[in-house]
Amino acid sequence: MGSLKIENVKKAFGPVEVLKGIDLQVTDGEFVVFVGPSGCGKSTLLRVIAGLEDSTSGRVLIDGADVSVTPPAKRGIAMVFQTYALYPHLTVKNNMALGLKQAGTPAAEIERRIKVASVMLSLEPYLERRPAELSGGQRQRVAIGRAVVREPKLFLFDEPLSNLDAALRVNTRLEIAQLHRRLKATMIYVTHDQVEAMTLADKIVVLNAGRIEQIGSPMELYNSPANEFVAGFIGSPK
Ligand code: ADP
Ligand code: MG
Repeated sequence: MGSLKIENVKKAFGPVEVLKGIDLQVTDGEFVVFVGPSGCGKSTLLRVIAGLEDSTSGRVLIDGADVSVTPPAKRGIAMVFQTYALYPHLTVKNNMALGLKQAGTPAAEIERRIKVASVMLSLEPYLERRPAELSGGQRQRVAIGRAVVREPKLFLFDEPLSNLDAALRVNTRLEIAQLHRRLKATMIYVTHDQVEAMTLADKIVVLNAGRIEQIGSPMELYNSPANEFVAGFIGSPK
């Protein structure tokens, strides 16, 4: 299970309102992509869903339960960041194990999950290395592996490919798509890249200045954009 409902979520930083009333429903197993220009509120919305940021008003429900006061670690969510956010002093294996150890997962179960994730993400040869000994693409696969071993209901990706070069970006994108097919997990993925959005999404949410302009499948947005903003954004890949 991993459904998500967002009800009239607003977020202000001081006097500046960056989310101006977001309503959204995500069904279990869906791949939803948030697109929109830099500064429109994509990361803030992800952080509110993850509980890393409190909303000013509105509700977030996961599998029907209001999680507005549930701490991040208890929401069943794993987040993957643009900057990987790995621990430099820990091996790949221990980077993946850390969260599970803290949650009290038995050692044998941690081993099993790391084995499965490292096969899935082709990380087996690197388990004893440290992040500095890996390429950018490998580091991002470790960050994804660390999310996978937690077996979350909901994966949140915040521009996970933007620090990679063009070839790696394509590879890693395909790996994320494959991961979604295998795990059948709910994934929410932020990007400002139209190609990523069009190829990965079941459903695209177009954000602009803290509001949703349109929600639809890639073909719906492409064929019937609600307004010029959506048409410009989806129709003109950079
Ligand atoms: P995006 O991810 O779409 O580029 P963000 O969600 O990061 O946009 O930011 C939306 C707006 O909120 C921006 O104007 C940004 O400067 C502002 N913002 C984000 N986080 C903070 C913060 N912690 N304090 C103040 N302003 C913030
Ligand atoms: Mg962002």
